[in-house]
Amino acid sequence: MSLRTIEALIEAGFATDDHRAELETVAASYAVAVTPAMAALIGRAPESDPIARQFVPSAAELTVSDDERYDPIGDDAFAPVKGIVHRYPDRALLKPTHTCPVYCRFCFRREMVGPDGAGNLSGDELARALAYIRNTPSIWEVIVTGGDPFVLSPRRLGEIVAALDAIDHVRVIRFHTRVPVVDPDRIDPALIRALSARTSVYVALHANHPRELTAAARAACARLIDAGIAMVSQTVLLRGVRGGPGRLDRLAALLRCIPLADQA
Ligand code: SF4
Repeated sequence: MSLRTIEALIEAGFATDDHRAELETVAASYAVAVTPAMAALIGRAPESDPIARQFVPSAAELTVSDDERYDPIGDDAFAPVKGIVHRYPDRALLKPTHTCPVYCRFCFRREMVGPDGAGNLSGDELARALAYIRNTPSIWEVIVTGGDPFVLSPRRLGEIVAALDAIDHVRVIRFHTRVPVVDPDRIDPALIRALSARTSVYVALHANHPRELTAAARAACARLIDAGIAMVSQTVLLRGVRGGPGRLDRLAALLRCIPLADQA
């Protein structure tokens, strides 16, 4: 079961009781979740552990400087309808959910994600978002993000893929997700079937540290690749998570080897 409260983090040894009050204040504003797969990777010194630093809240999150913004990347200015961000002519973000399996402390959408965040699009809102894409022929690529779209049920994911697949000018559907790493068992046959389309489907994996690429995570990626889904990856430069260029090389090397996971 995922750890979702400060009490659970303290019980697991990932936070200490002397910081309970500040951490409860952080958790009241910014969602907390650490999946079993990520909890299992956290070492004995959580304060300096690169996995813990990504997911365990810190009192430093309460420091907000005058120049910080609610919407730091300016999504709102490019949102013609709810659930769409259309910043560049040929591509648009579709955000069907603001739920994630883990909540990353560095997330630039941290005000919007989580149980008290912007939530899921309703059926009508999703229909309006899809209609915007359908009525905008310049959109060549749709990036399905959130939140993490792979928390949606295979049925809901399949409906979104089918709707996008039916739009002739959409040539690429790209999902951005942490699920293959943070909850690898979720990459099951039903989810993979939901991604089936005549349009090219890409899955962009968000991973930040070589330790995240466990055998289970690599096998989850291999299941996607074996199903004909192209994978790319993204990583965030994070102080205290990245140990320097050597670690980035190791992460890149592991990511390149993922198609061989089944043969390892
Ligand atoms: S999974 Fe993505 S959207 Fe969710 S908290 Fe992490 S960075 Fe933000």
